[in-house]
Amino acid sequence: MTSSFPPVSSSRATTAPAVVANHLIKHFGDLEVLKGVSLEVPEGSVTSIIGASGSGKSTLLRCMNLLERPDQGELGIADEAIRFTRNPQGDITGLDRRQLQRLRAKVAMVFQQFNLWPHLTVLGNVIEAPMRVKGLSRKRATALGEHYLARVGMADRRDAYPAFLSGGQQQRVAIARALTMEPRLLLFDEPTSALDPERVNEVLGVIRGLADEGRTMLLVTHEMHFAREVSDQLVYLDQGRIAAEGTPEEVFDDPRCRQFMAPAA
Ligand code: ADP
Ligand code: MG
Repeated sequence: MTSSFPPVSSSRATTAPAVVANHLIKHFGDLEVLKGVSLEVPEGSVTSIIGASGSGKSTLLRCMNLLERPDQGELGIADEAIRFTRNPQGDITGLDRRQLQRLRAKVAMVFQQFNLWPHLTVLGNVIEAPMRVKGLSRKRATALGEHYLARVGMADRRDAYPAFLSGGQQQRVAIARALTMEPRLLLFDEPTSALDPERVNEVLGVIRGLADEGRTMLLVTHEMHFAREVSDQLVYLDQGRIAAEGTPEEVFDDPRCRQFMAPAA
């Protein structure tokens, strides 16, 4: 591993956790995908999750966003706290619809495959969730959406449909869509993995800018140099368990994940 990037300053983060996951367990049928995962993301800091394919990274992120419902454990985001339990009938309890709505308004996610709605314009994509989930007026959502489209350099394409954009442009729109929710936590699931190599840097540049602004972010990535550069904290997930965590330097030096890192060095 080369060390061409300067160490990350820890001054950006405060100590208050914006996000706490406590002993999250998630099964798909008989397969236990998360085996008791606990992590804290301090307000204003960046945590990156690394690990092999199938180790449960996406499932963890989807649980943080409640796209998947954990079977057990606790989740705290800003001032919302949820405890998941299985009742004797095996149903999963611990969430009502209003709480789900409140929580969804606090967490926004950027997906590997962009997931833009093909039938909506760029601006339409960006204002949909703020209107539906947060109840903003079209006028207010449009003002916010235009602001964040400008932030990612996509203001001039506001009336274009996704099919007419490059992958990098689509992902920048997806980031603007997440930002327009003004979330407390931003989740990124391999945001550059589906991009042509020449498009990766324009998206990493946007994410780097958000990190520098002090946004609270949880990022799954295979871009090891980038993870090292922007992260305050690194988590190495191995078969549904956290096998190593700490500063990027600590985790990259940990023998348990050296082997995993080696191909990227
Ligand atoms: P990663 O993002 O680290 O590659 P995932 O969280 O996507 O890992 O997947 C972890 C494991 O859970 C894999 O074995 C995957 O096949 C399984 N899995 C993920 N989602 C589902 C699902 N909806 N139904 C059944 N199995 C799933
Ligand atoms: Mg994944």
